[in-house]
Amino acid sequence: MTDETGSEAGRDFIRDIVADDLASGTTTGVVTRFPPEPNGYLHLGHAKSICLNFGIAEEFGGRCHLRFDDTNPTKEEQEYIDAIQRDVRWLGFDWGTHLHFASDYFEQLYAWAQDLIRAGKAYVDDQSQEEIRVSRGTLTEPGRNSPYRDRSVAENLDLFARMRAGEFPNGARVLRAKIDMSSGNINLRDPVLYRILHAHHPRTGTAWSIYPSYDFAHGQSDAIEHITHSICTLEFEDHRPLYDWCLDNLPVPSRPRQYEFARLNVTHTLLSKRVLTELVRSGHVSGWDDPRMPTLAGLQRRGVPAAALREFVKRIGVAKANSTVDIGMFDFAVRETLNKSALRRMAVLRPLKVVIENYPEGQTEEVEAVNHPDDAAQGSRRITFGRELYIERDDFMEDPPKKFFRLAPGREVRLRYGYFITCREVIKDANGEVVELRCTYDPQTRGGNAPDGRKVKATIHWVSAAEAVPAEVRLYNLLFSDPAPEAANFAAQINPESLEVLQGCMVERALAADNAHDAVQFERQGYFVRDRDSTPGKPVFNRTVGLKDTWAKVAGGAA
Ligand code: ATP
Ligand code: MG
Repeated sequence: MTDETGSEAGRDFIRDIVADDLASGTTTGVVTRFPPEPNGYLHLGHAKSICLNFGIAEEFGGRCHLRFDDTNPTKEEQEYIDAIQRDVRWLGFDWGTHLHFASDYFEQLYAWAQDLIRAGKAYVDDQSQEEIRVSRGTLTEPGRNSPYRDRSVAENLDLFARMRAGEFPNGARVLRAKIDMSSGNINLRDPVLYRILHAHHPRTGTAWSIYPSYDFAHGQSDAIEHITHSICTLEFEDHRPLYDWCLDNLPVPSRPRQYEFARLNVTHTLLSKRVLTELVRSGHVSGWDDPRMPTLAGLQRRGVPAAALREFVKRIGVAKANSTVDIGMFDFAVRETLNKSALRRMAVLRPLKVVIENYPEGQTEEVEAVNHPDDAAQGSRRITFGRELYIERDDFMEDPPKKFFRLAPGREVRLRYGYFITCREVIKDANGEVVELRCTYDPQTRGGNAPDGRKVKATIHWVSAAEAVPAEVRLYNLLFSDPAPEAANFAAQINPESLEVLQGCMVERALAADNAHDAVQFERQGYFVRDRDSTPGKPVFNRTVGLKDTWAKVAGGAA
């Protein structure tokens, strides 16, 4: 089987490179890293990078480090450092003893920057950020040398030390590499290596007044950790010459290589951390773990199993060209994973009361219900049948159209695990709304079959009043109804119906008693998971995903 990248399932161009490097002896072991910046929570896109980096390490008998790229204290927080570790673990990966921070290398990075100065390959520039930007030139115009470019080594060393000591305000000076202001690659036009930032760092506190740029920290951190394959997303392709320049000009202990793959983009979804942060700060969602968020914390709270995420990532493959994946493909992986494992339960989301007139008042009986139709090992449970039941409002129509086979006046249907019932009378309130159905049951149909062989066209789910527990159910819909929401205009594009809260739902006893965090299937409805907002008397459920499988139709022929 081949995927969109044309490579074999389980194989992709990065794994091919790693395999070749091992075969040729270019490397003897494989060391990768996942390098998040702790400025937000991890999202679906990060899951792709995590599965790739940890997956390759696992498959090739190597190891993968978790390294925080904590070089910008103005945006980084301990909360994010903690959440990222939780989420990587939840996804099923383990960095062992290899938890690292770029900030662990600040002293070494500083010493290497001094080495560059001594070699005449870096200088302190007093120009403002704006002057630097303007003199950098454009794609068609070369840049102009800074008037500070030819400072003496001694002056540069002195100024750099004073930058570190905190003598100058933010933005007063930067340290730049001295490479080539007319390079065709703008990243090589004397890139900034250090900037002054008087900010509290979550780990180093106020020890530093200068912080290295991503470009100066990343490759050197890779080299310090003996990373062999430094895998990042395509937007860093143009940075690779700078990555190599730094390593080639410094006495680093190892020589990593950078490889780039395409970012994950998903329809109806924005994966920029700036947008996700704004969604949280502005209160459009309830937090980073709001189940509508594409964050790992949100997906987890929505009931998505980690295995479904790993399966999704495996299916989309790793390519060198950017593309957008249909959100339906994600839902499909979730549904497929849950179908195999989720316990079946009965819950009525929009209850309509049914009274079985010929069932004795005060009497109840227990019926056996299987926990999983394809997995007998999951066992069964007993549910209570009685005179008063709740059924789904949608399962009754007073004046049914031709293709509606469920309950209607005079019509007989099967109750799941129970009897046949026939609707005898419809009770309405003063507004004409149906509030109750009077039905009869056929005692001969216990177990769901009539001895005379007569058929019914529908089986509906139900919960008896004798055991029903009222619950809140939160139905989540797409946060953005537009398939390609714009990051610049995201607030205006939020789906006003992304959350629908149902109160007074009726769920079977087993659901109230069970505190499991695994999603279950509410028969005929979808997959749902208990939310942490549940209280002893009142469970709260989040809809993970509905049962309706639109992707299977789209993928149709392929399957
Ligand atoms: P954002 O652009 O949302 O701020 P980022 O790339 O700055 O995200 P980092 O914390 O720096 O976020 O990312 C850590 C790692 O995850 C990087 O190697 C990055 O390339 C990778 N990554 C981030 N987003 C995606 C994505 N959508 N698809 C694949 N990999 C991603
Ligand atoms: Mg980044």
